[in-house]
Amino acid sequence: MISADIRSYVEGVLRQDRRALSRTITLIESSLSAHKGTGRAVVNELLPYTGKAVRLGITGIPGAGKSTFIEGLGTMLVRKGHQVAVLAVDPSSPRSGGSILADKTRMERLSGEEKAFIRPSPSGGTLGGVAKKTRESMLLCEAAGFDVIIIETVGAGQSDVAVASMVDFFLVLMISGAGDELQGIKKGILELADAIAINKADGDNVERARLARKQYDTALHFLTPSTSSWSPPVLTCSALSMTGIDKIWETVLAHRKKLSSTGELEIKRKKQALEWMWFMVKDGIKEWFYKNPDVKKLLPKIAKEVEEGAITPTAAASELLFFLDQGGGEA
Ligand code: GDP
Repeated sequence: MISADIRSYVEGVLRQDRRALSRTITLIESSLSAHKGTGRAVVNELLPYTGKAVRLGITGIPGAGKSTFIEGLGTMLVRKGHQVAVLAVDPSSPRSGGSILADKTRMERLSGEEKAFIRPSPSGGTLGGVAKKTRESMLLCEAAGFDVIIIETVGAGQSDVAVASMVDFFLVLMISGAGDELQGIKKGILELADAIAINKADGDNVERARLARKQYDTALHFLTPSTSSWSPPVLTCSALSMTGIDKIWETVLAHRKKLSSTGELEIKRKKQALEWMWFMVKDGIKEWFYKNPDVKKLLPKIAKEVEEGAITPTAAASELLFFLDQGGGEA
């Protein structure tokens, strides 16, 4: 039996009512245990209505032009008749104040569009917690009729991996002139990319962008593509002057067509579901570990002993993990 409460959330989302969608996302973002149960039930009820959207992930260092790019692409898609939801994974986001991704007021044009829905990154918590909320928000948006979901993240290791494992297409936005280190781009991120776009290819930057494109093209040649039937292309664009954006969207669609025809898209989503489970398990274990009162008590002392050479790191780790064996803790 579904409670009236759950039914009202589910019906609101299916009615494609924006306010109901916002309320439901707030529900799943809540850390109150009563809300958690309701949230889980609502997502479960809505699951059959999910999965139809184009799921697009976008990463890049702060300043690469993600907001400008998403605003441009989103507006273009809305004009084509799509319904576009923009979500963000930024574990450093305190929701208000200072965070780059939380500051969505910059996407003013897109947020004014009736067919667009922009939701900043959920506040605080572990990466796993933030990513889980975003993934569930994505499902809710799909159930509410959005056919393009754009998930933005900052190019910083683990959050990229989390986003790449919830989308169909992962776009890495770069700028020329900044070295790889500067862009925080590791080889691992290039391996996740379904395409790289060198942004800000405008004005006197066009030539530099073209050069960067060549360099990344060469770099990608040394990597094994994650999908056998797709070699990630390197493109250039200007989010500011809206050039090359349509080409990137065409690339997303071409990728989709290709992977759908070979069955790889379905396999990818199945693999992602499993990857997701493991990601959540690992995150859960980590959370449990740090919350465990015995670990909390012991950790500073043991860390000091390791530093002073009084105990080996291996022995210290096994002493700390002993509590895991006991199955104690509050989580
Ligand atoms: P984000 O931090 O990755 O979201 O980057 P923003 O979208 O906030 O852009 C950072 C700065 O770069 C802003 O001043 C933008 O106006 C500028 N910018 C973004 N895209 C372009 C572009 O294609 N060309 C140029 N010249 N500037 C851009």
